[in-house]
Amino acid sequence: SSGDIKVLLLENVNKTAIDILTKQGYQVEFHKASLDEETLIEKIKDVHCIGIRSKTKLTAKVLSHAKNLVSIGCFCIGTNQVDLEYATKIGVAVFNSPFSNSRSVAELIMAEIVCLARQVGDRSIELHTGTWNKVSNKCWEVRGKTLGIIGYGHIGSQLSVLAEAFGMHVIYYDIVGIMAIGMAKQVDDLNEFLGQADFLTCHVPETSETKNLLSLPQFAAMKDGAYVLNASRGTVIDIPALIQAMKVGKIAGAALDVYPQEPPKNGDKLFVDSLNEWTSELVSLPNVILTPHIGGSTEEAQSAIGVEVSQALSKYINEGSSVGSVNFPEVSLRGLSLDQEDTVRVLYIHHNVPGVLKTVNNILSDHNIEKQFSDSQTDIAYLIADISGVDQKDIKDIYDRLNATEAKIAIRLLY
Ligand code: NAD
Repeated sequence: SSGDIKVLLLENVNKTAIDILTKQGYQVEFHKASLDEETLIEKIKDVHCIGIRSKTKLTAKVLSHAKNLVSIGCFCIGTNQVDLEYATKIGVAVFNSPFSNSRSVAELIMAEIVCLARQVGDRSIELHTGTWNKVSNKCWEVRGKTLGIIGYGHIGSQLSVLAEAFGMHVIYYDIVGIMAIGMAKQVDDLNEFLGQADFLTCHVPETSETKNLLSLPQFAAMKDGAYVLNASRGTVIDIPALIQAMKVGKIAGAALDVYPQEPPKNGDKLFVDSLNEWTSELVSLPNVILTPHIGGSTEEAQSAIGVEVSQALSKYINEGSSVGSVNFPEVSLRGLSLDQEDTVRVLYIHHNVPGVLKTVNNILSDHNIEKQFSDSQTDIAYLIADISGVDQKDIKDIYDRLNATEAKIAIRLLY
């Protein structure tokens, strides 16, 4: 029953998460900080679910002590802090929240478009250091200008709406065909696209194809005096090339939120070792806005993350739905009707090897299999089946027989 479910929440995850999980009837233990490894190992032993942010390292060593763990919630975007391979091996589903901060990023970019057009960064730096410098030369309205969005996904499409509200024309370039929002237009040829944009902003994932997506040839294909923005990933823009393009006046301004290498903690300098060369040049150029990867850092995004991850966790605990998991195939069944006494939902996580379904269905076939869905992802597969006509006394037998199957990684029966 839900009252037996133990949840451990660390690193001050958002209050929305505590509320949602408590409301489910789970026993929720909350800590503001992360725990040292020894305490973590002690605590993880009997919990069913753990919620963390980026500081808690769930290594194979830590996870090997978990006896009842079924899911991990990363209340953030990244999941590098979890040994995903090991979590998968022991049948633990990991969830994160990749899209809760899309609007926050879009708003920051919209603001920076205006700031670049008006050289606000430079004027602010000047006045902070005591210099009044009222300028209108090469300062523009954004109304009527063209915004080019590379990557028309969650963030790119949100930005499209904001930019049109400012009276901008929006064009976008994406590797897949995506329906335009408002009056925006998809342009399939990258060079043609680059030649039309007054402002160019990147919202693509980090892949081998997006590495140095914007480099010297792409800057050369752009309009003279165009502006460039990047709040996606640091590898997407070739920064030395950007510096070169800015020095010759091709690019009139840039806003960067992400970098090829980012300092691990607040207070650290961005200008480290090998990057020293370009970062010092970058800061000496006019009209460059640099922010420390804050695109998604808002109170609203934090609470949206709390809601998104805790809902995914409770859906997985209560219904077995793995939708949104980063390491499991996405499997869910609609219409769980456990109020019917004789119905049991079987959640069977197993190695992706031939013959498993035959063995499992053989065990289930004494009952009526109402619904069944299974999917695999590399080495792991996940099956959900609703069976009816089950006597309470059969449940242990079903469990024991499934538990004895060779391909089993983990099982849960909901009834
Ligand atoms: P998304 O997956 O919703 O959209 C990405 C889009 O890029 C998709 O439409 C995809 O088809 C397209 N794409 C992929 N490869 C491409 C290529 N080679 N050329 C053109 N288009 C390509 O992602 P999203 O949520 O919009 O996020 C976009 C980026 O923003 C990601 O890199 C993400 O990590 C980053 N991000 C940064 C912050 C921040 O704080 N700065 C916050 C959230 C997300």
